Amino acid sequence: MQKAEIGLIGLGVMGSNLALNIAEKGNRIAVFNRTPARTQEFVAEAGALAGNIIGCATVEEFVEAIRPPRPIIIMIKAGDAVDQQMDLLKPYLSANDIMIDAGNANFRDTIRRFDALKDSGLTFIGMGVSGGEEGARHGPSIMVGGTEESWKRVEPVLTSISAKFNDDPCVAWLGNDGAGHFVKTIHNGIEYADMQMIAEIYGILRDGLGMSASAIGDVFGQWNTGRLNSYLIEISEKVLKATDPVTGKPMVDVILDSAGQKGTGKWSVIEAQNMGVAATAIEAAVAGRVLSSQRQERLAAEKIFGLPPKVERKNHDGMAFLADLESALLAAKIAAYAQGFAVMAAASKDFGWSLPMPTIARIWRAGCIIRSQFLDEITSAFTKEPDVANLIVTPAFSKMVKDTDGALRRVVSYAALNGLPVPALSSALSYFDSYRRGRGTANLIQAQRDFFGAHGFERLDGVDRPHGPWGSGAA
Ligand code: NAP
Repeated sequence: MQKAEIGLIGLGVMGSNLALNIAEKGNRIAVFNRTPARTQEFVAEAGALAGNIIGCATVEEFVEAIRPPRPIIIMIKAGDAVDQQMDLLKPYLSANDIMIDAGNANFRDTIRRFDALKDSGLTFIGMGVSGGEEGARHGPSIMVGGTEESWKRVEPVLTSISAKFNDDPCVAWLGNDGAGHFVKTIHNGIEYADMQMIAEIYGILRDGLGMSASAIGDVFGQWNTGRLNSYLIEISEKVLKATDPVTGKPMVDVILDSAGQKGTGKWSVIEAQNMGVAATAIEAAVAGRVLSSQRQERLAAEKIFGLPPKVERKNHDGMAFLADLESALLAAKIAAYAQGFAVMAAASKDFGWSLPMPTIARIWRAGCIIRSQFLDEITSAFTKEPDVANLIVTPAFSKMVKDTDGALRRVVSYAALNGLPVPALSSALSYFDSYRRGRGTANLIQAQRDFFGAHGFERLDGVDRPHGPWGSGAA
């Protein structure tokens, strides 16, 4: 039997769609799944593509079915399962075979796995895949980390299956060992912020303006034709207009207001904190999900405090307020993306990856969950200034922020006065206000630290006077 060019382990939601995508692009692929019945079912349902697929019942049979040197994609549950699967696979592999972990791994695990295989003759690639089920089937955004040599070997097949933005493939090699999974993690952190901000605007429209789900869907549909054009706004419109077949009510109105999370958002925040980068909008989004999950506590607190009385807007022009909400979302989104890219810039230095910012923005323009027109503008901004300190200060984005920050201010004020929670929008505004103010307030913090801990401080005038004249009670 003709051997396969590539193998894939894990026929869950992502793996099965990725395997069909690979087969459809004319590649012969061997597949294996821990539970063999799933492999049989998968091949039986593959239709015309089954001719390009070799279903294997054992790991040995699977490895034997692939032509060496073998690229093998592992698309299974992240964590220990990947180590277990790699251990089962290794005895059957030969020199130059490549194991490609395509799940949502913690990039620190990826570095560990990469290092462990370094001198074994085998190669490891950590590959972030975004786009969910649909992306995996028809074109995901793919973020690759590993050696450049191993990337060159898998580049043709990954290019063939990736999403395309104006014919430009949304796949790239981003750096050594954990670079691909790190960038995927930050992608997800930004995704958390994006989703949270859209949900906060939905909250203002629902609870502040009293709009129905479908009317809010219309607003999002309108915005999707403009500056906010993006996959997340597009699906928000669709979700808001869907009807529950059981009750006939809008679907969103019968869904519990409690969102789960798997880890990538939290990892983004932890790594940002580790590197001393302010990623406040992403932090707010992760905290927002945590608070959302504490539903019983929230219901109990509402009984104690009630909700604040409504404060009407001074200007009752509804259309103007909708325009403000659209601009506010854009302004806050800029801050969230600026933070995500700042985290990646810091990691690039800390881990020696030389992460290519314009390339990252470029491969996020299609295929992934945060895909948008906006990312094309980020690509242009970073292409002109790849080493800029912060996206916000590039000419294109500083103009956008100047045009929209007033709206964000009005929207956050309205939400605060009405007790509508907007943690991501307000933290984005505070981030911008802190970032653009030359004279901040940490002079007082320096003085306090010197008072109680004799930590010393720096002076504006450079005079060498290490401690303040604090008098009694000071350290
Ligand atoms: P899924 O549908 O739940 O499938 C999980 C797969 O992992 C199954 O094939 C399962 O095999 C296998 N598996 C679980 N434990 C295993 C073990 N100990 N040893 C070997 N195989 C094991 O998951 P999924 O949504 O496809 O996600 C796969 C990976 O992609 C995860 O890392 C996920 O975070 C990531 N990812 C998911 C999405 C998404 O939108 N779903 C998007 C991007 C990335 P059995 O059939 O034998 O149980």
